Amino acid sequence: MSYVEGLRCRECGRPYPAEALHVCEWCFGPLEVVYDYEAIRAAVSRASIAAGPLSIWRYADLLPAAADGAVSLGAGFTPLVRADRLAAELGLRELWIKNDTLNPTGSFKDRVVSVALTKAQELGFKVAACASTGNLANSVAAHAAHAGMESVVFIPADLEAGKVVTTAVFGGRLVAVEGNYDDVNRLCAELAGEHPAWAFVNVNVRTYYAEGSKTLAFETAEQLGWQAPDHVVVPVASGSQLTKVAKGFKELWAVGLLDEEPHVRISGAQATGCSPVATAFAAGRDVVKPVKPDTIAKSLAIGNPADGPYALEAVRASGGGFGSVTDDEIVAGIRLLARTEGIFAETAGGVTIASLVQLVDSGVVRPDERVVALVTGNGLKTIEAVAPHCRPTATIAPTLEAFAEAVDLPAEL
Ligand SMILES: *Cc1c(COP(=O)(O)O)cnc(C)c1O
Ligand SMILES: [Zn+2]
Repeated sequence: MSYVEGLRCRECGRPYPAEALHVCEWCFGPLEVVYDYEAIRAAVSRASIAAGPLSIWRYADLLPAAADGAVSLGAGFTPLVRADRLAAELGLRELWIKNDTLNPTGSFKDRVVSVALTKAQELGFKVAACASTGNLANSVAAHAAHAGMESVVFIPADLEAGKVVTTAVFGGRLVAVEGNYDDVNRLCAELAGEHPAWAFVNVNVRTYYAEGSKTLAFETAEQLGWQAPDHVVVPVASGSQLTKVAKGFKELWAVGLLDEEPHVRISGAQATGCSPVATAFAAGRDVVKPVKPDTIAKSLAIGNPADGPYALEAVRASGGGFGSVTDDEIVAGIRLLARTEGIFAETAGGVTIASLVQLVDSGVVRPDERVVALVTGNGLKTIEAVAPHCRPTATIAPTLEAFAEAVDLPAEL
């Protein structure tokens, strides 16, 4: 049973059928999935969701594809970890980390890819493709392998080894393009025109792909006992995730799963070396001016973000703010999260945590709020970011004397 009524243009509101469409032929605005919330409200309950699988597919009624036959490696239902030690360092009362480093290929992208490829198969596509900043490539290649689909994925040629290897291992076609993500994306838009049978998950299937990010909001609320948090900090690349997290909390209210209407403040997190949305926010502009990315947070390095204006609007409407953090702050953010909570995040997670620090310092995130930080990628994929700082305490001969000489222990040990 699908509750999808169709698609609708975000800009002019024109309706379209739920087919392989992604832009409005009238105004070129992006299309969005429209659901019958009344019917969903009648069909779902907290209990029906709790009886579902421990993955994003427990929320299938609020997704644009059917759980039966889903292309799934088990993405979603990742831990929401109470972060008391980090909260204490930041002076917060209640902080939670949504630990999406634990998805099947180590990033939140497994959520959106599982939805996109499930829908792609429903629509009859045989080839999975994408323009990627790294994590999407991993995830598309893995899910395509699992589903027995051909894959062709495109990445910037300067990606971290941890992302190239973990994509190529799945055996699809991996094409490294000499250029940045925005060059890769432009090429893929052209290729999508030439190969209408290829499902570029974040190009011609983007309308469906984007819906997968709502599950971050759904899970967070469910894991908080069906309550929305006060404030969520979300990393921003294209801005899709942030926009859909905001939508997700609203949908839970629309279908009757929350007792109180949520007023979630949403703040964005960007690297200063690629912060077109944070910059527009700070300047009070509506237009997101493209930039040339230069940051270690490669998974967020989109200089011309497709959903930038919508992310900006969602942050403003919610009363949130933006963090913009340097490469040094990103590394410090990764190490702070690791040291206080035992979670090793990739550079995008460093952006989120460093932005949280900045937002607390500037008073945007308030000490009395219930705060959730989305940590969206695994540190094992970007070890070069912290490797220079993370060495053995000592390297010694296997003797008691060598240990005593090399390692200074405090008295209580
Ligand atoms: C892609 C990505 C994001 C953000 O994606 P959007 O394009 O803004 O939806 C955040 N974190 C990680 C680790 C990513 O790979
Ligand atoms: Zn339109």
